[in-house]
Amino acid sequence: MSTIFGRIIEGTLPCEKVYENERILAFKDIYPKAPVHLLIVPKKEIRCLQEIEPEDGPVLAEMLLVAKELAAKFSIADGYRLITNNGKKGGQVVEHLHFHLVGGKTFCSDTGFD
Ligand code: AMP
Repeated sequence: MSTIFGRIIEGTLPCEKVYENERILAFKDIYPKAPVHLLIVPKKEIRCLQEIEPEDGPVLAEMLLVAKELAAKFSIADGYRLITNNGKKGGQVVEHLHFHLVGGKTFCSDTGFD
């Protein structure tokens, strides 16, 4: 796999793992933008949301369920954001699909992290 997240999935780069099964890995963001900032990543190398295929539906649905579970586990179930940046213009830096689960602070009612 060609990205930082690929190396984390392969186990050649460390991470602070918070969830793993055969299809999904979740870990703490190394530069958290909120008190809770987790990344939920499919092990399949999908570049970005715009490149998902119909066959990816089940793992995408499972990523949402993992987000829900982690929100409860990290005590942010009463309010959080689930974000995916798509493409360079969308702010995506790591070209391996991931959901940011961010919470533990109060967000204003617009888009973005702040
Ligand atoms: P994005 O801009 O949506 O591609 O987000 C990439 C995220 O990955 C950023 O929030 C980074 O802080 C995070 N990140 C980069 N390298 C690592 C790493 N080695 N471990 C954990 N998070 C990372």
